Amino acid sequence: MKEILLSALACPKCHGQLQYDANNQQLICQADNLVYAIKDNIPVLLESEAKPFNQSQPVKD
Ligand SMILES: [Zn+2]
Repeated sequence: MKEILLSALACPKCHGQLQYDANNQQLICQADNLVYAIKDNIPVLLESEAKPFNQSQPVKD
């Protein structure tokens, strides 16, 4: 996934920028502590599909 694409992705809840977790193929909103899955290279940006972000597993750039 390219940065130019990531820059266009925003959290559906707070409209903040999402952090791409390449290791787990997911997008993280640190403001809401929510994780959005990426299925078949398509981010599932639905608040109802988001999962709580486990802060015990910090994401590194
Ligand atoms: Zn958010």
